[in-house]
Amino acid sequence: MKSVHEIAQEVFDTYGVRVITDQERSGLPIACRPADERTCLTYLQQVLTRELSIYSPQVIRKSKLNEIILCQKLASEGQRRGGLTCAAFLGSLGLPFIRNKIYLNIKVGGGWQYMRAAFHHELFHMIDYFDDINGYYDQRWKSLNRPGFVYHKDRIDEQRAKPQRGFISEYAMDAVIEDKAEVYSYLLIDHRGTEKLVREDRILARKVVRMKELLHSFSSEFNEDFWSKRDAASISYAKSIVKKRS
Ligand SMILES: [Zn+2]
Repeated sequence: MKSVHEIAQEVFDTYGVRVITDQERSGLPIACRPADERTCLTYLQQVLTRELSIYSPQVIRKSKLNEIILCQKLASEGQRRGGLTCAAFLGSLGLPFIRNKIYLNIKVGGGWQYMRAAFHHELFHMIDYFDDINGYYDQRWKSLNRPGFVYHKDRIDEQRAKPQRGFISEYAMDAVIEDKAEVYSYLLIDHRGTEKLVREDRILARKVVRMKELLHSFSSEFNEDFWSKRDAASISYAKSIVKKRS
């Protein structure tokens, strides 16, 4: 059986991405602790290598991702997190002291499906940041929502909107960048289920079309063939966040 080190080396050789398992950080803005070797090994075998294999090395290189940090007890600004992305234009230069990183909390509940989705979610933040010169700014995506809708992070009060149509998950209602990353991760792991929801949700339908457009302009690899493969590999994950009226 391969060791953590051997798998990490293979990932680096294929994708040019370093897998870090001994990161220890405390304080703000990011805190995390290393996970045990066995958890890292299982995660590498069951999640990371499988999910990475969905992409060509070219797409991963284009995302400008330099490092994946596998950890536990991940917190950002004092809040527990499942994953985090640190992207910076300077990071794309490949300098050792400033790298584009994804932190993944590999000791969270939620099961394999959640862990798979979380990886693609964070990877999308990287793609989103580097797909154009505007970084995360995307006014057009905001305009896909129903008029008057304000993302939770854009609100001046603490009030949260009720779960509603137009969103693939409740977390998607937090901010444009989370909405996009959620749509992306759901499409990746449950294309069929997402397309099914879209048939009854015009706003979500527009978001899926726009997402596929954005991805195709990022890389021609996100083509019909890519989506039909994702469709065939769908697992049951997407479900409506709006309670059905009885
Ligand atoms: Zn996110």
